[in-house]
Amino acid sequence: MKNKIQLITYANRLGCENIQDLNSLFKNELNGLFGGLHILPFYYPIDGEDAGFDPIDHQLIDPRLGNWSDLNALSKEVDIMADLIVNHVSAKSTPFSDYLEKGKNSEYASLFLSYETVFPNGATETDLLSIYRPRLGFPFTKFKLNDGSSKIIWTTFTDNQIDIDVNSDLGIGYLEGILQTFQKGGVKMIRLDAAGYAIKKQGTSCFMIDETYEFIGRLTEKAKAKGIEVLVEIHSYYKTQIEIAKRVDYVYDFALPVLVLDTLFNKNASNLKKWLEVSPRNAVTVLDTHDGIGIIDVAAEDGKPGLISNENLNEIVKQMHENSKGNSLKATGAAASNLDLYQVNCTYFDALGRDEKAYLIARAIQFFMPGIPQVYYVGLFAGENDMELLEKTNVGRDINRHYYTKEEISTHINKPFHKKFKELMLLRNNHPAFNGEFNMVETAANILHIKWINKSNWAELFVDLDEMHAKINFSKYNSKTNLTIV
Ligand code: BGC
Repeated sequence: MKNKIQLITYANRLGCENIQDLNSLFKNELNGLFGGLHILPFYYPIDGEDAGFDPIDHQLIDPRLGNWSDLNALSKEVDIMADLIVNHVSAKSTPFSDYLEKGKNSEYASLFLSYETVFPNGATETDLLSIYRPRLGFPFTKFKLNDGSSKIIWTTFTDNQIDIDVNSDLGIGYLEGILQTFQKGGVKMIRLDAAGYAIKKQGTSCFMIDETYEFIGRLTEKAKAKGIEVLVEIHSYYKTQIEIAKRVDYVYDFALPVLVLDTLFNKNASNLKKWLEVSPRNAVTVLDTHDGIGIIDVAAEDGKPGLISNENLNEIVKQMHENSKGNSLKATGAAASNLDLYQVNCTYFDALGRDEKAYLIARAIQFFMPGIPQVYYVGLFAGENDMELLEKTNVGRDINRHYYTKEEISTHINKPFHKKFKELMLLRNNHPAFNGEFNMVETAANILHIKWINKSNWAELFVDLDEMHAKINFSKYNSKTNLTIV
């Protein structure tokens, strides 16, 4: 992965209708801004569960977006990251339809995880209660087969997302087939979607158990052999994240979004600094993604302290809701049909009360963190909550999944605010200091001072949280030596 900012977007929500349009955007408006592009699920169909996270055909690009030769062409322009949805397929996929029709006589039967496969002698109450769930209920759905009998099938997310047995021959072949297609299509990086849930074993939490690590390890080897790097997507208690990071290429720093809010809201960087003492260096940093703002990533777990105290965390969540004038509340938790109850659905800009100054400081902090920064397309334009879309779909995450028009984009990129943001992005992408070493300078809690040093090249960020003032100094680059962001 290039040590430059990565963009995360849908292929049809960024003033584009398809992959070809995205290509022209990268050649023009977005030229030089990104070292990589994570295109959210572009498989058939893109409008399934959670906007494409339930592929009917994981190897087919949804014809509305184009085809593999379009993706190949785009991959010549920018490094592409694609989701490898390891845990499930659509209930409408051919294999599952065949299974419903023929039951155990289906050639695909062993691809799916029935209750029986995991609990051959039945499950105890303890078995069921041990299963880790960031949502209500149990991960099972009852399906009626063609012969009139019923089967309980493992469905971690929704009834339309049918979990697969990734260790079965069929499961192994299924994932290998996708990797091969990705390799031919020019995909350079994969995001292992919801990988933590992939392995189910009686008597365990069925989440990030030893066998899951082994599975991720094996899959990573296979991907690497094809020249594909792996980013593992897991929301969890922060210590679990640290463990995972030791064993994979890249993990997300999902603690950062809330820690940056904590720093800005409370004018105190202590929690952030503490995290930086232990945070994985092989991270992809985010402030926003297509999902909500993660809470479990900083929270306590089973009496073990988190990165932020419970009281403070509650206050931060309250503040986000207040800053968004209550709109995020309408999209969060049980208020809208949400997959994840422990995420706050809100654009990052609205979580900061549409304060441009605070937003630029937040981005500067992100870009100075160890790891490779990723910017979500709505965040690129400091987007506001899309209440219209939320109302239309009643899907909480849609509040932060706006469909931009070309006009909206061109209006935005001509604003002085965007020009500042762009300057910051170009500095992060091109200054050689960021290929050097990260240093946190010791300061009082209300000051954040970070320095990158690479031989004679250096860049430092200095934030005075009381004054909400930030300054960046650096060794000469582009005939400049500093950037005042606010
Ligand atoms: C994705 C979600 C998706 C879920 C199930 C998560 O990792 O980010 O958007 O719905 O996995 O595939």
